[in-house]
Amino acid sequence: MVPKQILEDMFRSRGFADFRWIDPASIVVAEWVRMKCTFGCGDFGRNATCPPNVPPVPECERFFREYSEAVLFHFAKKLAKPEDRHFWAKEVGRTLLELERDVFVSGHPKAFMLMLDSCILCETCTGRRSTCNEPRLARPTPEAMAVDVFSTVRTAGYPIQVLSDYGQEMNRYAFLLIE
Ligand code: SF4
Repeated sequence: MVPKQILEDMFRSRGFADFRWIDPASIVVAEWVRMKCTFGCGDFGRNATCPPNVPPVPECERFFREYSEAVLFHFAKKLAKPEDRHFWAKEVGRTLLELERDVFVSGHPKAFMLMLDSCILCETCTGRRSTCNEPRLARPTPEAMAVDVFSTVRTAGYPIQVLSDYGQEMNRYAFLLIE
C-alpha cells in the first residue's frame, strides 16, 4: 500500500477532507440491516445495487474481512430543497467513483467504494445486475452490504441520528475499502 499521506492527498484533491481511517474489522455487519432493506425500503428489487442483487449477509461479512484498511468519508449536508438530496448524492457519488479509480490506479487492485446513496446514475434503474446500464460503475451502499452504519460510524466517533423530517441536516457516509 502506498503511504497513507499520499492517499489522503488524493482524497483532499477530490474535495473530500472529512474522513477517518478505520479498521475494517470494526465494520459491523448485521442481519437486521438486510431485513430493513427487504421490508421497509422502496429500492428493494428496484435498484440493481440493492438487495436482492447483492450477496447474502455472511458473504458480505467475509468481504470486509478481506481488507486491512478502510476509510470513512463523512458528508454533513442540509439542503434548502430536501427534494434535491438525490441530485446532491449523485454529484458526490460521481466524484467518489473517480476517487476509487485514483486509488485503484495508484496500486490498489482491491479498492472498492461503498456509496452514500443507492445508485442513481440512470434516470430509471433497470433493477437487475444483468441489465445494468453501467455495470462497471454501479456500486452498492454500505447498507446494501448489510453494514450497520449507525454502530460503525459511532464507534469511529462520527455523528449519526435518525431524522424525523427531510429538512434536518443529514450525516451521510461512504466507505472506501483499500489494501
Ligand atoms: S447504473 Fe443505472 S441500471 Fe445500473 S444500478 Fe445504477 S441506476 Fe441502476
